[in-house]
Amino acid sequence: MKQESLVFLCTSDIAGKVRGKAFPESDFEKRLKRGIGWTPTNVQITCFDAIADSPYGALGDLVMIPDPDTMVVADYMDERPPERFVLGDIHETTGEAWECCTRSILKGALERLERVAGVTLVSAFEHEFHFKGGNCPLGSAYSASGFRAERDFAEALTAVMRTAHLGPDTIMKEYGVDQYEVTMKPAAGIAGADHAVILRELVRITAGRVGREASFTPLRSPAGVGNGVHIHMSMRHADGTPATYDPDGPHGLSKVAGQFVAGVLAYLDRIVAVTAPSVISYTRLTPHRWSAAFNNLGYRDREASVRICPVSGMSDIATAEQFNFEFRAGDAAASPYLALAAIVHAGTQGIEEGLTPPAATEEDLSLLSMEELNKRGFIRLPQSLEEALERFSGDETVTGWFPGRFAEVYAKHKKGEIDFLKGRKEDDVCAAYEEVY
Ligand code: GLU
Ligand code: MG
Repeated sequence: MKQESLVFLCTSDIAGKVRGKAFPESDFEKRLKRGIGWTPTNVQITCFDAIADSPYGALGDLVMIPDPDTMVVADYMDERPPERFVLGDIHETTGEAWECCTRSILKGALERLERVAGVTLVSAFEHEFHFKGGNCPLGSAYSASGFRAERDFAEALTAVMRTAHLGPDTIMKEYGVDQYEVTMKPAAGIAGADHAVILRELVRITAGRVGREASFTPLRSPAGVGNGVHIHMSMRHADGTPATYDPDGPHGLSKVAGQFVAGVLAYLDRIVAVTAPSVISYTRLTPHRWSAAFNNLGYRDREASVRICPVSGMSDIATAEQFNFEFRAGDAAASPYLALAAIVHAGTQGIEEGLTPPAATEEDLSLLSMEELNKRGFIRLPQSLEEALERFSGDETVTGWFPGRFAEVYAKHKKGEIDFLKGRKEDDVCAAYEEVY
């Protein structure tokens, strides 16, 4: 069969979907300037392919321009040709960033952090997913046999991650049925989120190569184990030295990192609509699922929204270099760009307001009364997407972090998603999300 290689130029949009258009690879240089045409109302296509209420209607034209630094050639060195894709930014035809370009929104947030605090954010996204109709026998959680069941996948993924300049770190059989987890090395600035977008695609492509289908849905069934996206973060000064650790700071956090974490926790109930944006995300974000149900800081505690991660004195890497904290109230229904943008804005707000991080919790907060929680400054996170959206849309500080009409468009998009699912039982809702993510 005669074939010509194409490059798929794409964005990770409000639905957390990777959408775009392909063009002949031979046009790559030209496309770097000319981009491809894009339609504003595409941003209102929900994960279920329904079009939510759009302020743009049938009007307008945009241009998606590739960023050559994000070019991926997924070459498995087998009989099939490699798959090529590249991430892009969406611009107005006049050149400025479009108000709903998720990647540009994250760049804006990262620039704000640099301007306010003089630090660069470094991030590493940790992904959980499962194989549909998987392969793992009962009793395989964290096990060698569970790993072995998908070793072909795991080794092909590792190789292709390296080709795509993502740093392979660990891969394991997670606790849930047919659930796996992949971690990767951190990357600075926009690259951290680019790598998350790329990783999800590489997992899907690689799964297809070995005859599997992966799903990143936040929750496979109401009583099941969630697929979380945990975002590890640290900071660096302009000269590249680590800025997150202070042995005398609270739980080892430097002043700037402590204020950032405090901001994330203070604004968490108003940004969770962006970091955990599906209807079923709110079943995952309940106590005793090792996810996050309160706006608490945890020291090595896996049931905290932000967890200070362990460092090891035995490592060859200095403590200040290892030190990082992890955001756990996120999932893969969110575009990595938007999730990280919301976190970075909340953190930077915390720096501007000079907030102090709360003491880390070491107990089961679900056992405390509402009164006790309030007294100690804890908030139970919103328990539905509707409630989360109300808190997001109702806070002018939060909506003001985003450009132009973005916040309004976002809320309308999510309303369209909620409406699509109206009247369905939770099992069906889970099944629908499993199909689309
Ligand atoms: N599956 C859990 C989640 O939904 C996380 C388990 C873990 O700590 O890795 O976030
Ligand atoms: Mg995990």
